[in-house]
Amino acid sequence: MAMLEGKVAFITGAASGIGAGTARRFAQEGAMVALADVQQEEGEGVAGEITKAGGRAIYLNCDVSDPDSVRQAIEATVSEFGRLDIVFANAGINGVWAPIDELQPEEWDRTLDINLKGTYLTVHFAVPHLKRAGGGSIIITSSVNGNRTFSTPGASAYSTSKAGQVAFMKMIALELGRHQIRCNAVCPGLIHTNIEERTEQRGTEKIGIEVELPQGSPAVNEGEGDPVDVADTCLFLASDLGRHVSGVEIYVDGGASLL
Ligand code: NAD
Repeated sequence: MAMLEGKVAFITGAASGIGAGTARRFAQEGAMVALADVQQEEGEGVAGEITKAGGRAIYLNCDVSDPDSVRQAIEATVSEFGRLDIVFANAGINGVWAPIDELQPEEWDRTLDINLKGTYLTVHFAVPHLKRAGGGSIIITSSVNGNRTFSTPGASAYSTSKAGQVAFMKMIALELGRHQIRCNAVCPGLIHTNIEERTEQRGTEKIGIEVELPQGSPAVNEGEGDPVDVADTCLFLASDLGRHVSGVEIYVDGGASLL
């Protein structure tokens, strides 16, 4: 039997990259997936592709930094599919990378609003539905950056948001365990997605990140991981395979941050 048969998953940032890859992977394993994002055309494209392949998917326009928008998207998910079992709080931006004395307060706020407050809002509005379902799995996309590596000068807002997500995840895992809700984080290294091209970099030297892996020969994309590498880790955490795992962050970087 498919690993997520009959389960309903709400995924933010699902129009692109890691979110889209995970939506496809969950749907292959039988989950009904709600794809939440601000990129309507791309999101509808991914949902359409899943449906064409025989899966069940809907796209929902949702800005994770806006409480009403998140509440409505989660309600729409439950009204479409009847329940909620899996929440993947994945939407995020690199935002602006700039020296701390040049980074503007509104730039700091935007990164924290989407990456950290957006994670809180997604969990906040989803939890009553997970309790109603008798339990569930929450997965948060953090990063190696801010937790294991600090190699990107100028990324102070991003790194702070990503470290904050791990602390939040641990508190939530502690708090919600009694409701049979597990909470974990995936911390990707460099993954081949569209996030870099949306990054604004000012006043810091553009860093060519060279990825080396302990195993030597990079599997794909010259050492960058693929969204499916993160999606498979999420599948483990979302499914019964991860039933005894809660409150941990899993680094998905091919071991690059060990070097
Ligand atoms: P991506 O840019 O391909 O996808 C991110 C998605 O989030 C996009 O579809 C975007 O439209 C959406 N999004 C942005 N702001 C939003 C908002 N306010 N509301 C709803 N959706 C919004 O990038 P990705 O690499 O797939 O990023 C996914 C997550 O992975 C992010 O949290 C990112 O920080 C994290 N991450 C990525 C890497 C990497 O190397 N790609 C490494 C570590 C962590």
